[in-house]
Amino acid sequence: MSGAIILPVRTIIEPFRIKSVEPLHHTTTAERERYLEQAGYNLFRIDARNILIDLLTDSGTSAMSTEQWAALMRGDESYAGSESFFRLKRAVDDLTGLRHMIPTHQGRAAERILFTVACKPGNLVPSNTHFDTTRANIEFTGARAVDLPIPEAADTQARLDFKGYMDVSALGDLIRSEGAAQVPLVMLTVTNNSGGGQPVSMANIAAVKEVCAYHNIPLYLDACRFAENAWFIRERETGYADWTPKRIAQKMFSYADGCTFSAKKDAFANIGGFLCTNDDRIAQRESDLLILTEGFPTYGGLAGRDLEAIAVGLEEILDIDYLRYRIVSTGYLGRHIADRGVPIVEPPGGHAIYIDAARMLPHIPPQQFPGQALAVELYRHAGIRSVEIGTLMFGAAARHELLRLAIPRRVYTQSHIDYVVEAILEVNACKDRIRGLEIVEEPPFLRHFSARFRQL
Ligand SMILES: *Cc1c(COP(=O)(O)O)cnc(C)c1O
Repeated sequence: MSGAIILPVRTIIEPFRIKSVEPLHHTTTAERERYLEQAGYNLFRIDARNILIDLLTDSGTSAMSTEQWAALMRGDESYAGSESFFRLKRAVDDLTGLRHMIPTHQGRAAERILFTVACKPGNLVPSNTHFDTTRANIEFTGARAVDLPIPEAADTQARLDFKGYMDVSALGDLIRSEGAAQVPLVMLTVTNNSGGGQPVSMANIAAVKEVCAYHNIPLYLDACRFAENAWFIRERETGYADWTPKRIAQKMFSYADGCTFSAKKDAFANIGGFLCTNDDRIAQRESDLLILTEGFPTYGGLAGRDLEAIAVGLEEILDIDYLRYRIVSTGYLGRHIADRGVPIVEPPGGHAIYIDAARMLPHIPPQQFPGQALAVELYRHAGIRSVEIGTLMFGAAARHELLRLAIPRRVYTQSHIDYVVEAILEVNACKDRIRGLEIVEEPPFLRHFSARFRQL
């Protein structure tokens, strides 16, 4: 033996190997031009078959594990009292400690039930930043959805460890001025999706809870990305470096009186969600409503096998190797484009990279949807699908003009991401040629899903 190798291998790899593959379909630029025209320049209207790399969303697009596929076979499809419900309930109890768990077909169904029960017209529901379906479901009840991000979040270039915070003093002021009776609940979105996928610290969760407790208002977590948030706390907040992600997540939930959850995010499931609460009376009213629109409370609009996949996913998502790889790979995409001149929301978030389209395309005003214009160009150039998060999605309430590149969990490899980096840098090199858009057709709400545009 010559000298022993003492340096450890440091490359962070995908902590899985591939057992089943799905071919990607290449298209030509001319074909993509045609698809764009047919779709009214709305990428939601383009057939998935004609997308090469799909970064539209990380929602419901995860690759399931062998254990999840195996769990599907255990699905108990009994209408009432399914074993799979109790398996999921145990997993959720263990994680959240919340008393009641109501399965729903996805996150927005949990939102609709929660806000229908909790909100009256004229109420307001504060959050660090509401997600689009959350905002729409609150406003559908006649209540107001109020965003209270910290002022620093307005600067996309500020590199804060925890940029997804709620502004706690603004929350206190709002509750005092409007009256606690007008605020049926406070929400915290972890991580803050619409705020750039930025994490919320444990200290902030605790501080928000303190304000809520003082005014006797329940705190709900919009917990879609609880595991990614837990990882950021482990990496960045003093005192958590040797905690397991699960223990951190349990502590996050210990401050909550309830939560909404989309299992399409941090549960690696293709469908599903749930609603939790500690309030027996509210839980009863929610179950009644669930039966009306989703199904019996032990399946809530899901198949038994879906409940199984979610139960397994909730455990797998907290794996240290997975979370390390997940956050590092998101950062890899972010750093490789940002360090070569593409303005992103700094620092890279958990599930997505957000390009600051207003900063990248200063020649396109917000009313001409710079984020959407960039999404269209990235598809035309390289077959990549992304999504606008700005004036198109939020109207006048938009704080930024962003293009979100959401990364499906366990789906794409590093060479896919290298392709995306290359494509974005090429688009950036010719960005002055990108034109704005005008809406020619739009529905009354959630218009970004189906609006049609014309190029200016
Ligand atoms: C996806 C998402 C929702 C809604 O969940 P769906 O399963 O898509 O209905 C709510 N809040 C946040 C933060 C989300 O990311």
